[in-house]
Amino acid sequence: MELKVDTHLQQLTQILQQSWRHIRTERMKATLKIQQAACDAMRSYLKSVGFMELLPPIIGPVTDPGIRGAKQVTFDYYGREYKVMSSAILYKQAAMSGLGKIFFMSPNIRLEPIDSASSGRHLVEFVQLDLEIANATYFDAMSVAENLLCAAMNTVKDECKRELELLGRELPTFSPPFKKFTYDEVLELLRKNGMKVRYGVEIPWDAEYLISKIMDEPFFIIDYPRGARGFYDREDENRPGILRDFDLIYPEGYGEGASGAEREYRYDRVMARMRETGEDPRKYAWYLEMLREGIPPSAGFGIGVERLTRYLCGLNAVWEARLCPKVAGVYSP
Ligand code: AMP
Ligand code: MG
Repeated sequence: MELKVDTHLQQLTQILQQSWRHIRTERMKATLKIQQAACDAMRSYLKSVGFMELLPPIIGPVTDPGIRGAKQVTFDYYGREYKVMSSAILYKQAAMSGLGKIFFMSPNIRLEPIDSASSGRHLVEFVQLDLEIANATYFDAMSVAENLLCAAMNTVKDECKRELELLGRELPTFSPPFKKFTYDEVLELLRKNGMKVRYGVEIPWDAEYLISKIMDEPFFIIDYPRGARGFYDREDENRPGILRDFDLIYPEGYGEGASGAEREYRYDRVMARMRETGEDPRKYAWYLEMLREGIPPSAGFGIGVERLTRYLCGLNAVWEARLCPKVAGVYSP
């Protein structure tokens, strides 16, 4: 296993050292045209249903801690510690409290573990279309997610026929609502297919690949157990230990495309969850002050733009969907 990762890293380094040249290939030009069409379609869809796009803050005193084993980037900010955003979750809630329905095209940095280099799904630098809706449930958020994905797919099929042909990709047509499976149902389905996943953690990459491979349509996994996610995913009042959250999973083995949830917005609950997950509340001073003053309940999600592009284009790896991509452990332009 060690050796495989090493060989893969060496090969990838050789390829990515030339990354500035890739943009001249027909393959990459087609990929980025499809990405642009998908982003335009998602923006128009969101604006047509009342969302406002904001410029995302990229740095700040604190960032999303729920990043599955990746490390945050910390730097010196005039003698104080600052983070580069691993996701815009905390700022999304702030923006939603003023404007109701908002989204960012938000650049994120996560120092992913070295073995993510061969997952085909992980970049160190990527962009999320990250949205939040005031007074919404996670079912409302899932409804936006499936419409957003269909808007992107339909536009790409209409406007990028030549590019899809060049990439050898045929896209089916899907219509919402997508199927929803609970976390427990997914664990059971995995068990029937010979894969055992420990209850209480996020579904590991290989299991997610398997479940995504079995399906031929995008679908949701809902209701993760508390402990599998960040302190901001809201626990169901009537089902202690169950979070009102979801992942959108692409079919054909492409795996997770988006994650979302209803938010825990009450100060006392957030403090309790922070203690449970070992977060230091002092670091979150501005966020906690905001919660103490009171914000509306909300729900939202983030959909990775490069992963969406990978799925739409049928690419082997997510790094093919980005100009000068950064992959864990690879030193490249
Ligand atoms: P998360 O907050 O980890 O659930 O991330 C939200 C979404 O961002 C995921 O569903 C992916 O589409 C995307 N994403 C997260 N991490 C990465 C990564 N390392 N590389 C590319 N896309 C990512
Ligand atoms: Mg996720």
